[in-house]
Amino acid sequence: MSKKNLATIAVRGGIEIDGQYNAVVPPIYLSSTYAFKGFNEKGPYDYSRCGNPSRDVLANTLAELEQGEHGIVTATGTAAIHLVCQLLRPDDLLVVPHDCYGGSYRLFVNLAQRGAFKLQVINQTNPQELDAAFAAKPKIIWVETPSNPLLRITDLKDICQRAKASDTLVAVDNTFLSPVFQQPLTLGADMVVHSTTKYINGHSDVVGGVVVTKTKELGEELAWWANCIGITGSAFDSYLTLRGVRTLVPRMKQHQENSLALIKVLSEHPAVEVVYHPSLPSHPGHEIAKAQQLGFGAMLSFELKGTTKEVTQFIAALEHFSLAESLGGTESLVCHPATMTHAAMDEAAQLKAGITQNLVRFSVGIEDSDELAADVKQALDSLS
Ligand code: PLP
Repeated sequence: MSKKNLATIAVRGGIEIDGQYNAVVPPIYLSSTYAFKGFNEKGPYDYSRCGNPSRDVLANTLAELEQGEHGIVTATGTAAIHLVCQLLRPDDLLVVPHDCYGGSYRLFVNLAQRGAFKLQVINQTNPQELDAAFAAKPKIIWVETPSNPLLRITDLKDICQRAKASDTLVAVDNTFLSPVFQQPLTLGADMVVHSTTKYINGHSDVVGGVVVTKTKELGEELAWWANCIGITGSAFDSYLTLRGVRTLVPRMKQHQENSLALIKVLSEHPAVEVVYHPSLPSHPGHEIAKAQQLGFGAMLSFELKGTTKEVTQFIAALEHFSLAESLGGTESLVCHPATMTHAAMDEAAQLKAGITQNLVRFSVGIEDSDELAADVKQALDSLS
């Protein structure tokens, strides 16, 4: 069979697999338990925590989109991150970026403090810090590129080459770009993690996660742990998420087109100090992003001139953006990372990660781009 395009995989995943009534769309299997065929004769499923047909269709579709061998669908993105941590023993070292998602940072730090593993937090865009980290032979390096909220870019090929040389597994949080704009497994990573809550589901109505592995063996090990610690995703959430996946490709294109329209307004406005987006030639990661990504993505952040007074005024003036955490839904969101998504980091960690009080983040939705641009312009104008 010829290699399928991502849009075809997203739309066709699980279509016409129903052998009973020939339903075109895969049915939802809500049963928590499955009857044995006879004494000691198990069917393909026995209990929904261990395996569920609706969850499997989603897992297989996401694995195919990421070009991986195995997908494990979890109850949340955080559960997917925690699942990867199950590979670590107390003497193993985990290396993570200093500017990863605040919830990931909180999980890593607290597990390490309880002795689950050793932890090193570094700036992964700094070659000297990478040299020192790899010299300690980590078991796993965790990468988030583009990073949240400053959209810093980490060179995935370089990290994967270094990792191979020191027998380190590479796990990439690909939540910000989705497989439409970045495919870490094809660049040498071993695992891709998503908060499917974001672009993958895309409608801000399901919380979920996934780990996709490059090899069957690693996938089976993680699937065993997911069942053992009981973090697999529900059938209903899987069904809804697969429904969202159907439109992933056209949504991502529109998200990105709208973000470019907003970047133009922000870059030209005197009330804005700096705009962070990898599409900008001034962005330090622009060239790497161009080489390793299939698109620049639709998350963007910027610093307003002034203090929290200006930030408060700007956010209140916006009409088409909801002040909310999360990202990747069809609707546009505005967020103040220091008091919202990254509040779990203490002030020192925030400053180290470059999160200032006048930093604002947009998750750009798929509304009309002219209306979004006009809205941002009038909110910026209101500051003068
Ligand atoms: N990874 C990234 C990049 C995120 O932004 C988030 C949540 O915002 C997560 C992981 C955690 O996912 P969840 O909220 O689904 O647990």
